[in-house]
Amino acid sequence: MNPVWHPFTQHGLQEPIPEIVRAEGASLWTRDGARVIDAISSWWVTTHGHCHPRIVAAIAEQAGRLDQLIFAGWTHEPAQAVASGLVAMVDEALGAPACPYVFFSDSGSTAVEVALKMALGFWANRREPRHRLLVMEHSYHGDTIGAMSVGARGVFNATYAPLLFDVGTIPFPGDGGEQRTYDALEQACAEDEPAAFIVEPLVLGAGGMLMYPPHVLAEMRAICARHGVLFIADEVMTGWGRTGTFLACEQAGVCPDILCLAKGLTGGSMPLAVTMASAAIYDAHWSMDRAKMFYHSSSYTANPIACAAAVANLAIWREEPVRQRIAALGARQEHGRRALAEVPGITNPRGCGTILAIDYAVGGQGGYLSSLGPRLMAFFRERGLLVRPLGNTAYLMPPYCIGDEDLATLHQALADAATVAVR
Ligand SMILES: *Cc1c(COP(=O)(O)O)cnc(C)c1O
Repeated sequence: MNPVWHPFTQHGLQEPIPEIVRAEGASLWTRDGARVIDAISSWWVTTHGHCHPRIVAAIAEQAGRLDQLIFAGWTHEPAQAVASGLVAMVDEALGAPACPYVFFSDSGSTAVEVALKMALGFWANRREPRHRLLVMEHSYHGDTIGAMSVGARGVFNATYAPLLFDVGTIPFPGDGGEQRTYDALEQACAEDEPAAFIVEPLVLGAGGMLMYPPHVLAEMRAICARHGVLFIADEVMTGWGRTGTFLACEQAGVCPDILCLAKGLTGGSMPLAVTMASAAIYDAHWSMDRAKMFYHSSSYTANPIACAAAVANLAIWREEPVRQRIAALGARQEHGRRALAEVPGITNPRGCGTILAIDYAVGGQGGYLSSLGPRLMAFFRERGLLVRPLGNTAYLMPPYCIGDEDLATLHQALADAATVAVR
């Protein structure tokens, strides 16, 4: 009996769970020596490739110097360096000092929880308590109770529905539906006294790689600003170059009040997250009154080893041609997208920066639980490819260092899998 209980895994189906012993770049190696192409950056986190030497060295060095430190009332150099480096990078990307304060946590879900608590704290400390949150249809913000509450309701969280708090849902701005989105947001901002609107900029990841253009993001931000409703950008997936720019907000000229970053923050090597806040939000908690402090912490807040990995990641962004690699990968993905658009059985080919997504035409048997998902996963696994479809949607989100040949193999596999889908 294996004591390990895996996430998002139905052990009763007894599907194979390969063991990986080593990784480098876009490659993983199994215990029996087979190479696997990591097409999804090990769940969207690995940006520069697995085991980047500078990140590995930074982790090893820090582990021998200072491994962990309580972060309430104490500080250390790696955390200071991450915070100041991030603020400079975000300022430059957004062209304004939008979010000059950095709060650490350890996953995307906790970065979102912190963002929601900061938004509520902002209103409470101003003695204008507001508790309602606005969210976008099909969104995903994590798996803790608060993060699930602001995410789409479905099979992932139906069991916990009685515990999830009520939110206002704004329709997804699909093609031609933009005005409906703006009207709903405008009305909710005007009538419901919401504390904040939380959104995934440009790409809704776990909701099915749904995409909308930058001008829509800009318009939604403007509506919130007009009504004084806080705007939370969850860039946990879209940040770190995934959509072609360091931040997705950058493409829309949008400055959020609160910005969540995680996944690629350490280049995908260590769990670390930040919630960055505007001066107004920090100032609302700044007081001689201890009752107004920000009540959030976890044991490993700003763990020095994770911070050292993030410092190395920031240096890689400053000193290596990361943006050129992202642009080149984006162009190759666009080339693949055009080819896939011609394949029978493939619909809705779409792309944003380094992300390429397609749907398999399935007529009525879609959804996350459709039997197509596991069949597709097995198809890719047998070819030595780590691709993890979301229902009938398949996507590629590889590390930026992936080679031409590996990417061509992946594009061909997406095309070939159409025969599995129509079977
Ligand atoms: C993955 C993800 C999260 C949750 O991050 P975890 O590190 O898995 O907790 C939150 N928001 C978005 C947009 C994500 O893609």
